[in-house]
Amino acid sequence: VELAVKAAKAAFPMWSSKSPLERSQILNKLADLIEHDLEEFAQAESKDQGKTITFARTIDIPRAVYNFRFFASSVLHHTTECSEMTTVGCVNYTLRTPVGVAGLISPWNLPLYLLTWKIAPAIACGNTVVAKPSEMTSVTAWMMCKLLEKAGVPPGVVNVVFGTGSKAGEALVCHPDVPVISFTGSTLTAQRITEKSAPHCKRLSLELGGKNPAIVFDDADLTQCIPTTLRSSFANQGEICLCTSRIFVQRGIYNEFVKRFVAEAKKWKVGNPSDPTVNMGALISKEHLEKVKNYVKKAQAEGARVLCGEGVDSLVLLADNQKGYFMLPTVIAEVKDESKCMQEEIFGPVTCVVAFDTEEEVIERANCVKYGLAATVWSSNVGRVHRVARKLQSGLVWTNCWLVRDLNLPFGGMKASGIGREGAKDSYEFFTDVKTITIKH
Ligand code: NAD
Repeated sequence: VELAVKAAKAAFPMWSSKSPLERSQILNKLADLIEHDLEEFAQAESKDQGKTITFARTIDIPRAVYNFRFFASSVLHHTTECSEMTTVGCVNYTLRTPVGVAGLISPWNLPLYLLTWKIAPAIACGNTVVAKPSEMTSVTAWMMCKLLEKAGVPPGVVNVVFGTGSKAGEALVCHPDVPVISFTGSTLTAQRITEKSAPHCKRLSLELGGKNPAIVFDDADLTQCIPTTLRSSFANQGEICLCTSRIFVQRGIYNEFVKRFVAEAKKWKVGNPSDPTVNMGALISKEHLEKVKNYVKKAQAEGARVLCGEGVDSLVLLADNQKGYFMLPTVIAEVKDESKCMQEEIFGPVTCVVAFDTEEEVIERANCVKYGLAATVWSSNVGRVHRVARKLQSGLVWTNCWLVRDLNLPFGGMKASGIGREGAKDSYEFFTDVKTITIKH
């Protein structure tokens, strides 16, 4: 970390003085190179993380490519503010300059996707970076490093350190020459990062966990809602911060929803991640699998009913996969709002389904968790979806869809789900310092 910060600091004057267009061209070149090797990257991501090859091929790596292209373009289009004070003969304007060495720390669930979501805006704005991918999933970050020179990224601009959170991560967070930390990971780690960085008054962006509700009103189009809610619950083995884990269904359609949802969940194929027909691969680790399974046990002990998946259906795996960390998509009903399964982030293929009666009631229940990252609302009543979206304590609200992202707009959570936002304007503001200049004429 010490050497990486030194290299980043040394490269900063040269990189920050390049024009946005020069930097943009390099980012585009890097995007082209990753895209050229998309299949190798996808294979590595799937093998390293356990996710299906289909997910890596269609989501992870294309998005990593797009992150570079998006910020290569958006960095060319920012403008700053200007104001005139005629009575005192002054004109004011603002300037934005890169901050310096940015520390970037990312998690294991969407490895290259989330790492590049930070590297791209940071270097597009003229910063140099020291990035630390998760120790669980470092392979694609390593592969990207090999392309940096070919893309024309000058030495010292992007430094990647491979190591654990407690050693490499913390050294980065505590380093006096790293004024900015952009972190995506758990709320617990964010608390530690906040504490450790406090003596240096660092600028922090924290993208953290979620306990995301889906609210299904009785006028919802279930033909759209059911397949999307299956994906929002179980995509990437439920290991996405935006995954749904509490489904509130209006009482009139509750039985029908549960019947159809469970029937579809049972069709999900779990197993060999390299098989393109498989819907769900393996969880990240043995410890994590045990943690997720324990939540199901806790719910059962509290009187909840497991409708399908863990403990009630048998998981059939090929001989080669028997020792893998696989688990069936699991749906739990009759769970109390205050139970751990309805309050804590599980981060696995487990979703709870409960009934509600009124709009006011469901808003209150959806908001009664410490997190506030994402929510989905299913209804064909346009007035209602606007009303509910406004009242949900959630950084993102999807209506009649899930995971549709315009990268121009802010991404981030409320409450324990984070501090700060990422997106075209938000990342630009985070990775630059603003100054106000006043000129008397
Ligand atoms: P984690 O907090 O354990 O680790 C995240 C990163 O932080 C890793 O690189 C890790 O090595 C590092 N780290 C750990 N301890 C550290 C320390 N003391 N100092 C500095 N760095 C440290 O999270 P995880 O288990 O890798 O990822 C899962 C979590 O990430 C979930 O809570 C999930 O919701 C969250 N997440 C949030 C978003 C979002 O955008 N809001 C996206 C993806 C994942």
